[in-house]
Amino acid sequence: ESKIRVGIVGYGNLGRGTEASIAQQPDMELVAVFSRRNPDSVNIINPDVSVLHIDEAKNYTDKIDVMILCGGSATDLPEQVPTFAEMFNTVDSYDTHAKIPEFFASVDKVAQASGKTSVISVGWDPGMFSVNRVMSEALLPEGETYTFWGKGLSQGHSDAVRRVEGVKKGVQYTIPSEKVIEQVRNGENPDVSKSDRHVRTCYIVAEEGADTAKIEQEIKTMPNYFADYETTVHFITEEELKRDHSSMPHGGFVIRSGKTGEGNNQIAEYSLTLDSNPEFTASVLTAYTRAAYRLNKEGQKGAKTIYDVAPGYISPKSAEELRRDYL
Ligand code: NAP
Repeated sequence: ESKIRVGIVGYGNLGRGTEASIAQQPDMELVAVFSRRNPDSVNIINPDVSVLHIDEAKNYTDKIDVMILCGGSATDLPEQVPTFAEMFNTVDSYDTHAKIPEFFASVDKVAQASGKTSVISVGWDPGMFSVNRVMSEALLPEGETYTFWGKGLSQGHSDAVRRVEGVKKGVQYTIPSEKVIEQVRNGENPDVSKSDRHVRTCYIVAEEGADTAKIEQEIKTMPNYFADYETTVHFITEEELKRDHSSMPHGGFVIRSGKTGEGNNQIAEYSLTLDSNPEFTASVLTAYTRAAYRLNKEGQKGAKTIYDVAPGYISPKSAEELRRDYL
């Protein structure tokens, strides 16, 4: 059987992780990486893979089955995913939760018309955490669902702070409240909002002569990303950033604390501990690349979220093998 032919659009952390993940998939081959930058300046893992300018992608519609879009959520994906869905099946990890409904609508409109399949907003959150929130709530209708992130570096939020004027470099950590986690695991069902469960801490390298008070204000009031959270902004040097904030660990958990019968506590927990956030996110993207390919073959066009894709579609194993060896 021939392999699924895959392309990568955008080569940052996630693009790099995606290249590594495709190499682990027995049924996929990477055809090319597309970037807005000069291809010669993009340093990829396998020098045998071709790097092309993004404008060349339109010449690959019959050579690539699925494009994995690895651009940033703040400004790249809302523009790139609809553009590519006109020509290719796509997969992305768009993570601005509050805007997912409008993102879905804009991608769906294009993909319905082009006959392509676009799996949007997969990764770990949105993605694996989203699935676990829905599953555990369906199983335990009476109770409370808690999502905790971190401690970890959030790429989406780091991306957002780096786009603030005067910011040269920066990272953002999300830190869960230990006290609240303990209460949840004990079945106490504390009444705390998402923003009370975590704090956000930013480490920023400012441009020479930049107004740091203005940067801090702009970050703390940024809608969707920071406005609802207790946020701390630290200004540090470039050397400190490199020394103390270069790795990209992350993780977190989704806990459903429910009650059944005459008050029995039922706690369901899904947890991730990740050395590399982008490499794990990329692993989810490639698994759902298989789904996008198969769904499109079946004629299921348009935008899909993780809720629309049955688990068997992401496995390289056949339905028969899954029934025999895993059920
Ligand atoms: P990134 O490293 O900032 O890359 C974003 C884009 O910036 C790249 O596609 C690349 O596009 C460009 N770029 C990268 N390095 C560059 C450089 N040295 N100079 C100029 N441009 C450069 O972001 P990322 O860490 O890959 O994350 C991408 C997105 O993934 C995030 O915005 C986040 O929303 C999403 N994400 C989602 C989840 C989830 O669970 N759903 C988890 C993690 C991340 P070109 O190649 O075209 O220049």
